[in-house]
Amino acid sequence: VYGVVRLANSAAQELFAAEGTDLPGLVGQSIYSLMPGQNLRQFLVDSVDGARSDTMKLHGLTFLLAVAPLADESGLRGFVLTLTDITELARIDRMKSDVMHILSHDLKSPLGTIRGFAELLGDSEVSREERLEYVEHLTAESDKLLKLIEVFLDVSRLESGRRRGQFLPVDLGAVAEEVLELGRITANQAGKTLALERPPAVSTVLADVNLVSRALANLLDNAVKYAPPGTDVTIAVKELEGAVEVSVSDEGPGIEPQEREHIFEKFYRAKSARDVGGTGLGLSFVAQVARLHRAEVLVASTPGRGATFTLRFNKPSLEEEAIGEQTVE
Ligand code: ADP
Repeated sequence: VYGVVRLANSAAQELFAAEGTDLPGLVGQSIYSLMPGQNLRQFLVDSVDGARSDTMKLHGLTFLLAVAPLADESGLRGFVLTLTDITELARIDRMKSDVMHILSHDLKSPLGTIRGFAELLGDSEVSREERLEYVEHLTAESDKLLKLIEVFLDVSRLESGRRRGQFLPVDLGAVAEEVLELGRITANQAGKTLALERPPAVSTVLADVNLVSRALANLLDNAVKYAPPGTDVTIAVKELEGAVEVSVSDEGPGIEPQEREHIFEKFYRAKSARDVGGTGLGLSFVAQVARLHRAEVLVASTPGRGATFTLRFNKPSLEEEAIGEQTVE
């Protein structure tokens, strides 16, 4: 009744010990100091009228907290508190909302346009010029849909391990240069200046050049898309002791710390990004490509000042170099 723990199972012991509380055990501790800031007192009081449940964050995980009062003839004897880890369910639930967003915008709107132009084409009064213009719109909108479906399938194949890599020695400096050249026109149209920083030569890494260039192109697209006109976007290649890294830096809005853990999830889009077109799949593709290469993805950002995304590839060991060509799952 006073919030002193009388009994705790081993899962509860582990959960609270995990925070480095080096407590001998939970029994005898005050639940209010173990779970501060949860407004637990009110929650317990309210539960007397009937069992209650709510979600809460604890130690970076999401829990379903359920409380049931324990009473006998002599009155209230205490409470039973159960915490169920629903972190994964919460993530899936968030993904479900994000997918709904994609369905309602990115799939519905091109399909609506396609339907509209298909109807117009069916009109016998339409001139030849108009007909050609409608066909152009139809092609552009279908391309958008195809691209969306392709990237979705790519991410799924990489995730499930069905897409394997063709690993060959790759010069990341050359890849960076090619990606930069391909992105230059779009960047210039959007008012961004692209720059490349690379040493005269870097060691090769074992990589699937097609996947790595597309991952890098995604990072470049994002930098160009999210940064305001008149700013610089830089691709930098660096040789480190045991690794070679390539990074894309922009002077855009950056990423809030609480968003950083989510941006690599499928379909996740930061709230601030909702006015800019996108599907939330680009960074999950990047993360999957990195995973396939056992490469690291790093994000550094000062919100309001820009972001730097880095892909860091380990240099191949002598053995790997000797094999030269291999396929890694
Ligand atoms: P998309 O760009 O289609 O939304 P991504 O998976 O590429 O999807 O990115 C996920 C989210 O990460 C974006 O919606 C945006 O909020 C954030 N983000 C990615 N790159 C940047 C960047 N360079 N600057 C600021 N925010 C970014």
